[in-house]
Amino acid sequence: MAAASVPPKPPVKVRPAPLPPPRFTYHQVRKAIHLLCVLIFVALPFTNLMRVDIPNQRFYFLGSELWINEFGIIFFVMMFLLFAIVATSMIYGRMYCSYLCPQMIFSEWSLSVQSWFTRKINKKLSTWPTARKKFAAGAAFYTVLGVASIFLAFVFTSYFVEPRDLMRRLMSLDLHTAGGITGAVVTLLTFLDFTLLRQRFCTTVCPYGYLQGMLGDDNTLLVHYRDEKGACIECKKCVRICHMGIDIRESPYQMECIHCGECIDACQDVLGRLGQPTLIHYVWGEKGNTLETKAPWYHKLGLRDAKRVVIMLIILFYGFGLYAALSMRREVLVQVAPVRNELYKIDSTGRVRNHFRVKIANRGSRAANVRFDTNRLTNAQILLEDNPVRVAAGETVEREFDIAVERWPEAQLVNHFALQATTDTENKTDDFAQTFLMPQGVK
Ligand code: SF4
Ligand code: SF4
Repeated sequence: MAAASVPPKPPVKVRPAPLPPPRFTYHQVRKAIHLLCVLIFVALPFTNLMRVDIPNQRFYFLGSELWINEFGIIFFVMMFLLFAIVATSMIYGRMYCSYLCPQMIFSEWSLSVQSWFTRKINKKLSTWPTARKKFAAGAAFYTVLGVASIFLAFVFTSYFVEPRDLMRRLMSLDLHTAGGITGAVVTLLTFLDFTLLRQRFCTTVCPYGYLQGMLGDDNTLLVHYRDEKGACIECKKCVRICHMGIDIRESPYQMECIHCGECIDACQDVLGRLGQPTLIHYVWGEKGNTLETKAPWYHKLGLRDAKRVVIMLIILFYGFGLYAALSMRREVLVQVAPVRNELYKIDSTGRVRNHFRVKIANRGSRAANVRFDTNRLTNAQILLEDNPVRVAAGETVEREFDIAVERWPEAQLVNHFALQATTDTENKTDDFAQTFLMPQGVK
């Protein structure tokens, strides 16, 4: 009798090791900041928060319209921005490059778009020959990049030419005026940059990477590989993920490294599955603490020594001074000067006249009326046809006029008085100290 056959045992199900809990990644943080930066980049010229209007010689900053001849404040603003960038580099290393720089943001974006089209077309049109798929992916990518280049060039040129004016030039395909030619050239350069140059720009053309080497010190934030226990499994995911094409394990001071933290995410992803922490970290200086180390809040913010505290105080002080300078700035600027071709003249009624010139610049956004009066000049009359003088927004006007006085007993050869200018939009009166000349023997 044949033995009864034993049914095979069902295969034992091996449960995979649970994945580590989801955690934030520097990649997510960067992409969120990149999106915010793009919104700010587009919004700044259209809201006049920061823009240089070259044709009209204006500089817009935080809603203030500065004229090019207000060079002092413009210089002050430029120096403040420069100082802020240098100080940030010293404390936070190349955070600007990886988190804020438009060149990096749009280079990464163009790479993502290119690989997205390649993946989609390979998947959807898998039956096509390889050459045709490559052509279709390239055509789609270059079309999107062409439209994006026009848009980016338009936004960039809007920092220097008024956006509505620029739009008119774009709609009429203007290639004759400087604004139109600039827009076309910037479009072409943007297209070439994001198709050919991309991150190569950072290591070849941009001076900031070289400058960074001089700005950092022992407490500057950088990305560092630490493997005291020899836990690296040589998976090289940190190398493959790096869009600057380097191996962070060789040195934290490589010129190409922009401290983006993508390799930290990569190592965390690989070793996290094995229950181990990442070997790559953000650290304060090569020998300093990681960001995760417990420390006082000011250390976590990067204020790790007296030098950094002083720098932060200078930035605060500088920012406060800038705010004060902008808030004390007058929208309507009045300048007064006597005209001394003729020291004085005596008119047909016997009154003595002196001649003056005023220049009124309205740097505000609404029309202003400026009224002139005299103070401490007896029986004076200002012979100005339109008093108050109306000055439209953005306009500069000049007037010349006589001031006539009756002779009076106490008059001197030189009489000090004030020419007053009252501006209705600011509801302020300025006194300009002037002199009125009388003939000898006037008494
Ligand atoms: S080495 Fe790391 S931090 Fe440096 S650029 Fe490459 S991915 Fe970013
Ligand atoms: S990702 Fe981490 S484990 Fe893999 S090679 Fe890089 S440092 Fe080593």
